[in-house]
Amino acid sequence: MENLERVVVVGASAAGVTTAETLRREGFTGSITLVGDEKALPYDRPPLSKQVLAGAWEPERTLLRPDSAYLDQGIGLTLGSAATALDLARRTVALSNGEEIGYDGLVIATGTRPRELPFGHDLAGVHVLRTVDDALALRGDLLRSASTVVVGAGFLGTEAAAAARLLGLDVTLVDPLPLPLVRQFGDRVASTIASLHEERGVQLRTGVSVAALHGEGAVSGVELTDGTLLPADVVLVAIGAMPATGWLTGSGVPVDDGVVCDATCQAADGVYAAGDVARWFNPHFGGLMRVEHRMNATEQGMAVARNLLGARIPFAPVPYFWTDQFDAKIQAYGVFPAEAEMVVVHGELAERKFVAHYLAHGRVVGVLGWNMARQLRQDRQLISPATAG
Ligand SMILES: Cc1cc2nc3c(=O)[nH]c(=O)nc-3n(C[C@H](O)[C@H](O)[C@H](O)COP(=O)(O)OP(=O)(O)OC[C@H]3O[C@@H](n4cnc5c(N)ncnc54)[C@H](O)[C@@H]3O)c2cc1C
Repeated sequence: MENLERVVVVGASAAGVTTAETLRREGFTGSITLVGDEKALPYDRPPLSKQVLAGAWEPERTLLRPDSAYLDQGIGLTLGSAATALDLARRTVALSNGEEIGYDGLVIATGTRPRELPFGHDLAGVHVLRTVDDALALRGDLLRSASTVVVGAGFLGTEAAAAARLLGLDVTLVDPLPLPLVRQFGDRVASTIASLHEERGVQLRTGVSVAALHGEGAVSGVELTDGTLLPADVVLVAIGAMPATGWLTGSGVPVDDGVVCDATCQAADGVYAAGDVARWFNPHFGGLMRVEHRMNATEQGMAVARNLLGARIPFAPVPYFWTDQFDAKIQAYGVFPAEAEMVVVHGELAERKFVAHYLAHGRVVGVLGWNMARQLRQDRQLISPATAG
């Protein structure tokens, strides 16, 4: 971008920090202001549902950088203040602390916010899990409790259920879909995840939704739509997340399940988006994509920084993600559409040590490994772009 002297990055987490640092690494000498609504120094979220919940890590260990790193790199931190409005014409961002900051280049890296049930969140013991404070509050309650119900068997729900079980609680995992993580990986891997959880003592209640949360002041039980009442001292609601775009309403930045961007991650003149909040055209797969995974936040932050500096390179990654639950390390590259055919090519599903390929229209579009990292990395090369064959 020409005349780039002031960059403002809204969202001080994985994507925002990477953008700011990449700008410096690529030689940008203008001002960088990183704005974040959380008071804590930027930290990493994946350990929250794993090491932090389990008590293996103190929260400090999740920090992305020590305090001094921002000073050393000349990155200004404005923490504890939310961006509340954007004026594209004047190129300014309004903050909840009353300030207004001008920019030449703006990066939107505001991530997502947890979805909530339409009821029950006012009861003590009912949690969501996105921030370090959420993780510490949830852990505190789990340590005082005998039973927990986790609502939602996606990545977060299955990981938290495993962590709670390892803390010794009675754990029930509830989801309206027939199997945990079935939308993400299909029936066969999802069945294997279900067996893992059941063998470790997690009670699975699938194919049924939550009708109500009961309790006076504090939660005491979860009522399911089939009439079952599950006792619970703690409830974790892990039913997905929504892009944090409320502050952009009326700004003119296109928003539709995220900030809609072109292939270079640009949403408007001088405005880019990165991380969980960005829905951009990924030329590798030939469609708009929004990825809620940690590696994407880093890679997209780097791409956005370079494009702000004028590279104009399409961002065409093969998405990567992982999840750890009990002794399973599941890693995956690519996409996993419902219609894809899944074929185990190394190892055995039943032994929970395998690599599977996902094929759509005769092409490998995704590869998934369960406790087989090295083989998986090799197979990753097989994922073909949308334009191939
Ligand atoms: C508990 C947990 C476990 C996870 N585990 C894994 C895993 O195992 N593997 C994996 O691949 N991914 C995992 N993820 C996902 C991964 O953490 C995210 O993809 C990553 O954090 C996205 O980074 P981001 O910077 O785009 O957004 P975020 O990390 O969501 O950061 C956005 C920041 O912007 C702030 N913000 C929002 N609105 C405003 C505003 N208006 N003004 C100022 N600041 C604002 C938010 O408070 C937040 O601090 C996990 C996520 C969670 C919550």
